[in-house]
Amino acid sequence: MKRNGEKVFKITAACVILLAVLGLSGCKKVVKYTSAGTAMGTFVYQTLYTEGEDVSALVEERVETLEQDTLSWRISGSEIAVINACAGNVEGIQLSEKLSENLAVLLEVSERSGGAFDITMQPVVKLWNIDAWAVLEDTEVILPEDAQIEEALKHTGYRALKLEGDTLFLPEGMQLDMGAAGKGIACDEIMALLKESEVTGAVVSVGGSVLTYGSRPDGADWQVAVVNPQDTTEYLGTLSLSGEWFVSTSGDYERYVEADGIRYHHILNPATGYPAESGVRGVTIVCDSGILSDALSTACFVLGVQDGMELAESYGAKALFADETGQIFMTENMKEIFKETGDK
Ligand code: AMP
Ligand code: MG
Repeated sequence: MKRNGEKVFKITAACVILLAVLGLSGCKKVVKYTSAGTAMGTFVYQTLYTEGEDVSALVEERVETLEQDTLSWRISGSEIAVINACAGNVEGIQLSEKLSENLAVLLEVSERSGGAFDITMQPVVKLWNIDAWAVLEDTEVILPEDAQIEEALKHTGYRALKLEGDTLFLPEGMQLDMGAAGKGIACDEIMALLKESEVTGAVVSVGGSVLTYGSRPDGADWQVAVVNPQDTTEYLGTLSLSGEWFVSTSGDYERYVEADGIRYHHILNPATGYPAESGVRGVTIVCDSGILSDALSTACFVLGVQDGMELAESYGAKALFADETGQIFMTENMKEIFKETGDK
């Protein structure tokens, strides 16, 4: 009897301890959700590990709202479209707090990149009709004339912008294009959304910008592949990332057209108005801000390996450059996380 009583006591005690442990850990099951959707005119891929609901639809919605309400100059009524419509207003244009913060970051990248990054390139971007490249046959593409580019360039140049607090002075004839930073800004917003949710780990990509968040249930690092610009069906290698990071890539293979045997891509040199010819074919930036990773990848593409490396280092960002000869160049801090395909 005594022995039985002892046994019952031991079993009961074990159950209490087990329940306490489960109670402390919340006893919530982590579920994995994967999805592929579109927003901001690009693909949004998500892998979410969560103790709560699947928030992937919310993520897509947030990105699309950002595009519609704020970033797109093509959507009338968006904040950028309204700003562009008010160019020349001598009293300046009142911006939302968020947009003025983002513009301040971008103007600093413009300054520190010596103008390689320039959000006032819209008149030239529009002239090249980059948006239509995805839907037109190469033979249907009409390239701009030199004289048209020269004319459009007269209405560009970030130095003519003035941002005083949240008031922007945009001179007559000038227009903003957030295309080179929009996907990174979207990743910043997604990160904020994930932090408010019960998601415990995630990898989300919006076009060429990716974020990693939290951890995988097995504790392993996130792996983000870097595309080989010479053969986009292959990877140059993978980045091993733990926790919160933003990764952006700018490549000449992302959007381009071919006319008379010449390939024209979508990253323009603000000094010439033509696709940048810096000898670089792809740049990947890793840092702790989405907007910066995206803006820096574009800036570094235009600057080329040497100057681009200096710019990235000045921001403490990790950078990888793939040049037209197939060589890879990396900042020291990038070498710590990049594993080349084929390396053990
Ligand atoms: P990304 O793919 O992030 O490098 O951004 C390229 C897009 O940004 C283009 O499709 C243009 O809309 C715009 N853009 C092109 N060249 C520049 C530049 N030098 N500075 C800022 N925006 C640019
Ligand atoms: Mg960019």
